[in-house]
Amino acid sequence: AKREGRNNTQFFTAALNESTAERLELERELRLAIDNGLLQLHYQPQICAADGKVHGVEALVRWAHPTLGAVSPAKFIPIAEESGLILPLGSWVLDTACRQAARWKAEGIEGLTVAVNLSAHQLRQPELIEQVQTILCRYALHGSDLELEITESVAMEDPQYAIKQLQALRGLDVQLSIDDFGTGYSSLAYLKLLPIQTLKLDRAFVRDIETDPNDAAISTATLALAHSLGLQVVAEGVENEAQRSFLAAHGCDRLQGYLFSRPEPAEVLSQRWKQEAIA
Ligand code: C2E
Ligand code: CA
Ligand code: CA
Ligand code: CA
Repeated sequence: AKREGRNNTQFFTAALNESTAERLELERELRLAIDNGLLQLHYQPQICAADGKVHGVEALVRWAHPTLGAVSPAKFIPIAEESGLILPLGSWVLDTACRQAARWKAEGIEGLTVAVNLSAHQLRQPELIEQVQTILCRYALHGSDLELEITESVAMEDPQYAIKQLQALRGLDVQLSIDDFGTGYSSLAYLKLLPIQTLKLDRAFVRDIETDPNDAAISTATLALAHSLGLQVVAEGVENEAQRSFLAAHGCDRLQGYLFSRPEPAEVLSQRWKQEAIA
């Protein structure tokens, strides 16, 4: 038994070292990808539940690795956060998404809000406000053309500083939403203090919304809570018609998910929207 124990330890140590080495290698390659412009943004539409029109899009970063293929942001965003690479990556995402928003405007696609995910590290930067202001100015955008998504845990980490930063962003008329709502621990007291406009109901609750009474209860309670606080609700991960009709019937404001569109390169959406306009 003793020998087995030692072998197990060696096994785990080896596995740990391998994963650490793999992480370091990914970090090194991610740095190169950022520096060499090898990341891409895809955009996923958000649909108004009431009229089916496109309200806006969420920008989602993509990394096509030369040998590994597509690396999931669920894998490389945590590495970027731990290594600090999230700052140059986040700046690139913000700039690229805003440049695209201006392009859509120039193409005559008006009133599209572009949502960008903001990490804790970015929100902690005092320079964030000036950076956002500079980018809006660079692309002649209005603050309300941009929506920033932060998770509950990001907002709760240092609530006082977060509130201060978010208020400054509101001063630029930027829209703010809480991402993955319901998955973190959120204090309703703080929720009330955050100067946000929107809650994004996590797709974990949407998945079985029409079959699991608990998920249905959480979703309808979130909708009621949000609306009573004057907030809008976006449902994530809407994949089928049953989920859409449940959410629409319960007053969900916006819907996002594969039912409407996968995240796509900007040109794919532009083409689709132009065809729909002449159809
Ligand atoms: P998120 O912000 O919750 O983004 C939504 C995720 O759900 C995206 O995964 C999207 O592709 C996926 N999704 C959308 N509709 C559906 C659906 O109907 N069904 C299912 N099963 N999934 C759907 P993705 O693109 O892999 O991104 C994963 C996470 O990585 C994001 O979760 C976000 O937290 C993070 N992320 C992505 N891009 C950025 C970024 O530019 N900056 C930061 N800080 N984080 C990012
Ligand atoms: Ca998001
Ligand atoms: Ca989300
Ligand atoms: Ca999510």
